[in-house]
Amino acid sequence: MVGEAEGEGQEILYIRRTRIVASHHHDPKMLHDISIKSGRLCGITEHTESTDTQGLNEPVAIDADCHLVTPSLCHAHVHLDKAFLTSDPKYADLRLEKGGFAEAMEIGSKAKKRFEMGDLLRRGKWALDRLIAESVAAGVTHMRAFIEIDCTVGFKCLDAAITLKREFANCCRIQICAFAQDPIFSGPSAEDNRRLFGTACSNEEVEAIGSTPYVEDSDFHSKENLEWTAKLAQRLNKHLDFHLDYNIDIDKPVMARHVIELAIELDWRTSKTDKTIVLGHCTRLTLFSREEWQVLSHTIQRNDLPIYFLGLPTSDLFIQGKPPHGLGGGERPRGTLQIPQMIQQYGLKGAISINNVGNAFTPQGTCDPLALASLGVGVYQAGTVADVQCLFECVSSRATEAIGFDSEIGFRVGGRADLIIYQSKGGSDDRLSKQRRRLGLEDLVYDPPKDRQVIFEGRVVDI
Ligand SMILES: [Zn+2]
Repeated sequence: MVGEAEGEGQEILYIRRTRIVASHHHDPKMLHDISIKSGRLCGITEHTESTDTQGLNEPVAIDADCHLVTPSLCHAHVHLDKAFLTSDPKYADLRLEKGGFAEAMEIGSKAKKRFEMGDLLRRGKWALDRLIAESVAAGVTHMRAFIEIDCTVGFKCLDAAITLKREFANCCRIQICAFAQDPIFSGPSAEDNRRLFGTACSNEEVEAIGSTPYVEDSDFHSKENLEWTAKLAQRLNKHLDFHLDYNIDIDKPVMARHVIELAIELDWRTSKTDKTIVLGHCTRLTLFSREEWQVLSHTIQRNDLPIYFLGLPTSDLFIQGKPPHGLGGGERPRGTLQIPQMIQQYGLKGAISINNVGNAFTPQGTCDPLALASLGVGVYQAGTVADVQCLFECVSSRATEAIGFDSEIGFRVGGRADLIIYQSKGGSDDRLSKQRRRLGLEDLVYDPPKDRQVIFEGRVVDI
């Protein structure tokens, strides 16, 4: 360390001797110096012998000691209000007995009935210690947080999320997505759910709105759900985000096609709006033929639609493809969108995210997007240099682009100084770090190091 850069909130002006990765323009074998001003990158220059003393006299400088630096990370999709229910004593009786979507919905709705403002804030504080804090420590500087609104919870989750968003504003941009997990067009509570959801969507703190059309009792009601929510998002000028086509059943209709038709009908074009449309899960699409993928991609591109597919592999692998009776034998289809191949082969846009952590929808996994990218190497069988670059982007720049923070993350002069310096803290694995020093992006994705120093808007995050 050089200078006095360690205090939280202290603005960094200079980062010396970095290896920049996550960009085709930078060779990680070369060293660079990064200058920062007012939270923005104002210079990225090659570090040479003649520039070696530069920055040494800067009042606030970090010596990266030849370690890797990347842009920060993003959760494009995370459920803030349902995190870590499995380890909360208040919900200790709500244990997984069978596993699967039906039980997850049942446990989720039982848990929601017990939500109280104090409880949500208390668990929100947990999120401070766990979901948000662990995410921020992993290098997450942007996230889309799904917040449920219905007649069971009312506005409690939304109010708690607004409080947390403000509380964490100095280390992470939390974008709130008002979300209807329950039916809004079928069942006895449909009308009340829809009314409350519509009111919440109008709240100025809500930047995105989303729903779950597959929880409706018929395809007709699912389409009503899609149309009503899409038109509301367009009228309110907010981002749109659907949990969609969450099955691996060839006999089920593909609702993603209906969303595409709807977007064309509503004239929702990239060149006309900065509001994006995200389609999450979409496991039904894993049954597509090559021709079906090509048609889907051509239709989206020809119509200039800002549609992004979001793979949620930890949830999809846990929930989908389970045999209906017992554990079954060896026949187990696995369904999660092949995001890297969709990007590389079909020119579609997409990202991956963690979805849930520590609840009945996804009991396993951590808050680290880089660990998810690492899982992706095996899940997508994507381990080449180009694959790894794509996987990293899927939890970084492609993720922020999908949720409408276009170009916020990345190495660009004038861009935000939201960065991660790896293995520079001298932490627990320091003894081994010299032998195991990561030299390129592949090393970060194959085996993500724990020691990360996170810079948000040019300031060291200390959480
Ligand atoms: Zn979700």
